[in-house]
Amino acid sequence: MLANKPAGAPHIGPTEPEVRSYPVPPEAVQKSPNFSVYLPLRELCCSYLDPDKIPLIDKAFHLADRAHDGQKRASGEPYIIHPVAVAVIIAQMHLDTESIEAALLHDTVEDTFVTEEDIKRDFGDTVMELVNGVTKLDKLRFHDYREAQAENFRKMIMAMTRDIRVILIKLADRTHNMRTLGNLRPDKRKRIARETLDIFAPIANRLGISDIKVELEELGLAALYPMRYRVLKAAVTKARNNRKEVVNTILEAIKRRLQEVKIEARVLGREKRIYSIYKKMVNKELQFREIMDVYGFRIVVKDVDTCYRVLGQMHNLFKPRPGLFKDYIAIPKINGYQSLHTSLVGPHGVPVEVQIRTEFMDQMSARGVAAHWSYKEKGSEPTSTAAQKNAQRWIKNIIDLQQSASSSTEFIEGVKTDLFPDAIYVFTPEGKIYDLPAGATPVDFAYAVHSDIGQHCIGARVNHRMFPLSRQLSSGQTVEIITSPNAQPSAMWLSSAVTPKARSKIRQYLKSLRSQECVLIGRRLLQNSLKGVRLDQVPPERIDQILKEFKEPDLNALFADIALGNILTVIVAKRLQGDEQHDDEKGLPITGTGGLPFSFAQCCQPIPGDHIIAHITPGKGLVIHNYNCLNIRDQDKNPEKFLNVEWDQAVTANMDFQTGLRIELENRQGILSEISNAVDLAGSRIESINSEIKDENTYIIRLTVTVRDRLHLAAVMRRIKAVPNVQKIFRQR
Ligand code: MN
Repeated sequence: MLANKPAGAPHIGPTEPEVRSYPVPPEAVQKSPNFSVYLPLRELCCSYLDPDKIPLIDKAFHLADRAHDGQKRASGEPYIIHPVAVAVIIAQMHLDTESIEAALLHDTVEDTFVTEEDIKRDFGDTVMELVNGVTKLDKLRFHDYREAQAENFRKMIMAMTRDIRVILIKLADRTHNMRTLGNLRPDKRKRIARETLDIFAPIANRLGISDIKVELEELGLAALYPMRYRVLKAAVTKARNNRKEVVNTILEAIKRRLQEVKIEARVLGREKRIYSIYKKMVNKELQFREIMDVYGFRIVVKDVDTCYRVLGQMHNLFKPRPGLFKDYIAIPKINGYQSLHTSLVGPHGVPVEVQIRTEFMDQMSARGVAAHWSYKEKGSEPTSTAAQKNAQRWIKNIIDLQQSASSSTEFIEGVKTDLFPDAIYVFTPEGKIYDLPAGATPVDFAYAVHSDIGQHCIGARVNHRMFPLSRQLSSGQTVEIITSPNAQPSAMWLSSAVTPKARSKIRQYLKSLRSQECVLIGRRLLQNSLKGVRLDQVPPERIDQILKEFKEPDLNALFADIALGNILTVIVAKRLQGDEQHDDEKGLPITGTGGLPFSFAQCCQPIPGDHIIAHITPGKGLVIHNYNCLNIRDQDKNPEKFLNVEWDQAVTANMDFQTGLRIELENRQGILSEISNAVDLAGSRIESINSEIKDENTYIIRLTVTVRDRLHLAAVMRRIKAVPNVQKIFRQR
């Protein structure tokens, strides 16, 4: 992993003239008693970073060194050993300067006099955000949760971290802590080991960083089950010696064959990891001997084409075992892993497993997403956005490949949760996590923490700044609710709160209000919505008509219902002012809304040409449904909750609408990509995809597609129906 060390870089004292000159460490750094701890990291950085970046690393070390001065690790060594070791792991991945600075500083804000502002001032926003992100992850209290939720935590970490470098630093941090676990109390050691196996090794795996995944698994097993680990390790060492001869025979046979056909390749015997042996024994109930009796080899070649040629040669050299060939080049694993896998019958009938891949795939399998964050050649250090794009492209590539080649439910589900999270994760100032639906506001958060906090909240600080109670939160934010004992819920909150708990508590409170207060609030709300018109100037006939329409005995009852959020103020305002088309709705696809905010119902996803009706949902405005949608059967019972609306075809002609399709099909290789082609050919787009298994042969795929109108939708459906093995297609309602 280490590139050539530039001559002269690590010299202390007077410099000799050099070809590429790296700056001498500043005197303050050289004088540190921990200089010798830092030096190997510095050399490593000099081996791939530009010379002008090195002073930044020096500066970060210097601050961390001073900040942790006097602190000790559990082993009794100076604390600075830890951040430096973490930075070394980051530098071994060849990550950028900012990542190394952040790795050096990752424990300073939490444990020392250094503040966020210090880091921001001296190292910039990005480094500060990286340090913050790692600190936040540190505060997650995994051990409070049942093991069954481990998967949720992994997803949560992925979802709440916008900059993947935070996760890489956290993985490096965990790796070094695992290496030095021996100094901790046994119970603490076990807890950290379990958490590592449940949470962090799977994350490293998901990101394709097998170097770190393997190390975390081996260390985790050794700490969690020291006896089992020792027994297995001894058994593996013994078996290895017995196997040497067979391994060499097969290795030679493979090499000879490749030479004969003039294919250049690296051929390696693969050692089995103790953790993977352990897992196979537990999960597949295999005997130790059965596992060790399989001989594994890896062949690394220069290009994809050669991979398939080598495969042919191997199937010719040894008899392939039917059904055990896997083409992970055409269909990479979820984490981007690529290789050909095959299983053969070796000399004397021994099972032989061969992996065939290119050098590039080999690199990727070791470093995964980290490879895309690598520091590039001189002068082209990736800005964070460029690198972020790289990493995103990496993920997208995997998806494209997968989608065109297979319809594995597991894959589609996996990607869906990663890319379209519909939950957000936010923190209390103490680091406790709350998951809320997307769109949640500080009010929802306050009620989620405790009803009392909700009832008395008057404001919110998000990431230490004041934040409106009605604004939507996003993942990763730290939310602090400001309360006052005299504060009370406001009817206005109903227009932005989304969680059922918050909404019902607010409503409950409003109901308990003296009706007098309700009437006043309702009156004020309605007057505010009547732009320019005064309530007492509205003709009495008009008011009587409205009261009849909303089934209210008198005006005060109407005001009270407005205050309680039972009737939408703007609707009443619109009726009071007459039903003529509003100026506000010009240019909108729907007419008749009175300029109210509206959205399309997710249940029936109406498109132009459908007979539609608007349902008035307090807090959400209007929701446009299909007239026959089963979710709104009470039109006749509660007419005041509905508005008649129409499509404005002059506007919709240039718009796309989303609607759902349900396809039943007989699964086969490539069918998903043919469907996606059909959609494409019909001039439509797939917005989301979901699949489930109906029975042994039948899959159900749910697509959301974009169409202009009903005619267009019919054309799309015809195209899909024409794909072989598609059995039925329905519009989703
Ligand atoms: Mn740490």
